[in-house]
Amino acid sequence: MGLKHPKGPKHNAKEIRIDPIFAQEGFRSIPRCSMPEKEMSPDLAYQIVHDELMLDGNARLNLATFVGTWMEPQAQKLASETFDKNMIDKDEYPQTAELEMRCVSILSHLWNSPDPDNSTGCSTTGSSEAAMLGGLAMKRRWQHKRKAGGKPIDNPNIVMGINVQVCWEKFANYWDVEMRLVPMEGNRFHLSAEEAIKLCDENTIGVIAILGSTFDGSYEPVKEICGALDKFHEKTGIDIPVHVDAASGGMIAPFLDQDLIWDFRLQRVASINTSGHKYGLVYPGVGWVVWRDAKMLPEDLIFYVNYLGSNMPTFALNFSRPGSQIILQYYNFLRLGFDGYTKVQGYAREVAMYLSKEIENLGPFELITRGDELPVFAFKLRDSVKNFSVFDVSNKMRERGWLIPAYTFPANRTDLAALRIVVRRGLSQDLADLFLDDLKRQLPILQSQPEPVHDEKSGSGFHH
Ligand SMILES: *Cc1c(COP(=O)(O)O)cnc(C)c1O
Repeated sequence: MGLKHPKGPKHNAKEIRIDPIFAQEGFRSIPRCSMPEKEMSPDLAYQIVHDELMLDGNARLNLATFVGTWMEPQAQKLASETFDKNMIDKDEYPQTAELEMRCVSILSHLWNSPDPDNSTGCSTTGSSEAAMLGGLAMKRRWQHKRKAGGKPIDNPNIVMGINVQVCWEKFANYWDVEMRLVPMEGNRFHLSAEEAIKLCDENTIGVIAILGSTFDGSYEPVKEICGALDKFHEKTGIDIPVHVDAASGGMIAPFLDQDLIWDFRLQRVASINTSGHKYGLVYPGVGWVVWRDAKMLPEDLIFYVNYLGSNMPTFALNFSRPGSQIILQYYNFLRLGFDGYTKVQGYAREVAMYLSKEIENLGPFELITRGDELPVFAFKLRDSVKNFSVFDVSNKMRERGWLIPAYTFPANRTDLAALRIVVRRGLSQDLADLFLDDLKRQLPILQSQPEPVHDEKSGSGFHH
C-alpha cells in the first residue's frame, strides 16, 4: 500500500475546474496532481487553496485532539514575523537559539531538575521526536555501560504499558529495540509498577512512564514505578532508568498537581518530554526533551554546529525547521507565567470535570475517567445498552460538527469500546453546554434505533 492515503476522497477528475468568474487569466481548469504548466496570479492561487481547505473540520469543535488550536492575536503576529527563521541556523539567529535555551531552562525549573541553571535539553518537532531522542540516549547509555562491563549489546528491550502512544512503537521499530508491553487488565488501563518489573532484565534500556495516557487521560504511577525499580536495583544490581512521557501532563501537573511527585525529584527519572503544542498551548510543531543532567546525554550523540564563531551542540533528528514555534513557546511562558498557566489549565480541568459529570448524569454512559488528571476523560456505554454503539454516538455528533473519537482499547481489554473528550484551551464552559445540548438532542434518536449501526471499523483517530 506504500504511503498512499487509504481513505481520502475519491478524485476521479484529474482537473480542478475554475469558477468562470475567476477564470479571466485564461485558466478554465488546472491539473489536480501534477504541476500546472503556466504561472497564475497569487490571488487566484490563494482562492483555489483557500476554498479547498474549507472542507477541513472546524478545529474548535474537535474534541479529539490534544494539539493547540487557538493562540492570541499577538502570538499570531509574532508567528507571521518569524516564519522565515530557521532554528538550526544559530549563527544567523542567535536570539532564537537563546530563546530555545531559555525555554529548556524554564522547563527544567518546572520539572525540578537538580541543577536547572545548567539544564540539558532541546526543542523538537513534537513529543514523537522527543521520544526518539530520549529513547536513543537511554539506548546509548545502556550500550556504553554494557560495553564497559564486557557484556553483549545485541538484545536491548524497552518496557512500557500497551497504552503507549504510537511514537514509542516507532522508536522500538526504527531503532531495533525489543518492545515489552504490559497489557491492560480489568480496570487497570495503564502501566503498574508490579507489572513493569516483571518484564525488566539486564537488557532493559529503560521503562517508559506516561504522565497522561492518550487512552483515558490517566496518570501512570511514576513514583511507584521508580520505587519498584529502586528495589529491583537493590536486589539484582540492575539499574534501569525511567523516561517520563509527559506529552500532556508535563504542562498540567506542575500547575495543578504540585503534590504529585513524578518529575526529576525522583532520582530514577533520567529524562522527560512534553509537547509544546499540546498543553504548552502553542500551534503544532514544537516539543521538548529535558535530561536530568548532562551525564544523561551521551556525548557521542551530540553534533556541533557553528554558532557565532563557536560551536553549538545539537541533538536532533531534523536539521532545518521553523524557529517560530520556539518563539511562540517563549511568548506563552512570558505572557502567562506560572499563574496564567495555572488558570488556563485549571479552567480546562474544571470544564472537563463538569462535562464528565453531566455526561454521567445523562443515563446511558459510564465514566472510565473523570478529567481530574489530564483534563481528558473517556466514557463507555452501560452494558445494558445494546441497541447503539459508541461508534454511533461519535457518528451522530459529527452531524453537528463535533469530533469525538470512538475506539476500542488494546489487549487485554479489546472488549471495551469508549469515547474520549479532550478539553483544552478554547473549549469554554459555554461550548461544553452547546455540546451537551447536541448530545441530549441526539440521544433519543440513538435510543430508538433497533440495533447498532456502526462498529469499530468506523473508529476514529485518537492518538494525537
Ligand atoms: C501526543 C502524544 C505523543 C506524541 O506527541 P506529538 O507531539 O504529537 O509528536 C506521545 N506521547 C503521548 C503520551 C502523547 O499524548
